[in-house]
Amino acid sequence: MADYDCDLFVIGAGSGGVRAARLAAVGGARVAVAEEHRVGGTCVVRGCIPKKLMVYASEFSQAFKTARGYGWAVGDTAFDWQAFLNTKDIEIARLSGVYVSNLENAGAELIHGRAVLEDAHTIRLVQEDRAVTAETILVATGGWPTFPPDTPGIEYAITSNEAFHLPELPKRILVVGGGYIAVEFAGIFNGLGVETTLLYRGPNILRGFDAAVSAHLAGELERRGITVILGCHHTSLEKTDQGLVSHLSSGHAVETDEVMFATGRAPNTKRLGLEAAGVELTPSGAVKVDEFSRTNVPNIWAVGDVTDRVNLTPVAIREAAAFVETAFRNNPQAFDHETVASAVFSQPPIGAVGLTEAQARHGGRRIDIYRSVFRPMKGAFYGSEERTLMKLVVDQASGRVLGCHIVGPDAPEMIQMAAIAIKLGVTKAQWDQTCAVHPTAAEELVTMREPYVAEGL
Ligand code: NDP
Repeated sequence: MADYDCDLFVIGAGSGGVRAARLAAVGGARVAVAEEHRVGGTCVVRGCIPKKLMVYASEFSQAFKTARGYGWAVGDTAFDWQAFLNTKDIEIARLSGVYVSNLENAGAELIHGRAVLEDAHTIRLVQEDRAVTAETILVATGGWPTFPPDTPGIEYAITSNEAFHLPELPKRILVVGGGYIAVEFAGIFNGLGVETTLLYRGPNILRGFDAAVSAHLAGELERRGITVILGCHHTSLEKTDQGLVSHLSSGHAVETDEVMFATGRAPNTKRLGLEAAGVELTPSGAVKVDEFSRTNVPNIWAVGDVTDRVNLTPVAIREAAAFVETAFRNNPQAFDHETVASAVFSQPPIGAVGLTEAQARHGGRRIDIYRSVFRPMKGAFYGSEERTLMKLVVDQASGRVLGCHIVGPDAPEMIQMAAIAIKLGVTKAQWDQTCAVHPTAAEELVTMREPYVAEGL
């Protein structure tokens, strides 16, 4: 080990890389971390955190309506995009700084610049033009937004990366895609007063989520004023004197000022020297790893979005912790990717954990569905038609709750708690023994007595 410059070299200081570096360094390993952008990665710099701040900013338009419904006289309101961006950037800089101090306090060396593998133990620091050797290497380079190939005029479009720094708010925007990022940003722009259209190629948004969730959210997005176009491709983009024109496969055109593509992210595996080190990739270009996050090269490991398993910040963090246990503490651990809860910060938001109804029915399993659709008390008071959806998927044979799906205010907060019970294998009978907390929306979860669909397939 002493022959190498360091025990662990981490490429990428995002959620996964920083966690691994800190844990290994605190345990006494000599650790170096290279980052070519800002420390904090997608989550802190151009993802979860700034996105959530934008969600908060955009929710005020609904809050003003609610306030009026409760008797408040709300005068003219106006949103100052530049003021928001300035404060947001200060907060992101603060958080990035916290990550830097955490690394330094743990004793890890932070290197600003690009790192490229030369072989299985040698890393070239491109800007400094020097090589470093390491016993163990962790690739934690995350992912990056992608555009669909061969779209004429794509150079006029933006991705989520640019959406965090637009010089000014557009009057109109077209968001292309139907995944997490597309529905979250459609809600943000709509809430900020931008005339928003969401365009998705499939029959309903959020493929992979429970079909009831997708349909319910699409309805609620439209209720809030977003135009949702389904089953239609974006074919080309044209710049005119008035703005941009998006041409669709239906033959229609959408006139707009900004077009944001949220059509997926690709793992950052290019020009990293992975071929030189002999690291195998999956057909989609992700680093191929085993359940311990180890690549085919025994001393090279990878965690987070670059491995394209479950692309969520907390998962990257858990994969990183398991990697350190396995590689540095002689305590092999594989993170369990089953039953990971997730939240979509659409407006209204989604919380989901476990199997969807369709997944649960695979293989002919007989299930019961419990479902409640209701107007939450806060909105019902002033006549809002917005509805919350709650759905439980229950295995008939064992009585186990296999999935919980919520669309409505505070759904992300509720699902964290539901995930504990479901991960522990709770049955519907045990679930129902839990006394309701009143008056809350969450009490509906434990008071759904009659199955909505009684027979399985
Ligand atoms: P998603 O995979 O969620 O969605 C991508 C969307 O783009 C899908 O609707 C997909 O359609 C569509 N699409 C893909 N290729 C094309 C194409 N060539 N033309 C048109 N549409 C296309 O990716 P996102 O970019 O939204 O997010 C990336 C990941 O980041 C997520 O999977 C999630 O893991 C994570 N994330 C998590 C968040 C959270 O936890 N709240 C927030 C944001 C991101 P189709 O369904 O038909 O394939």
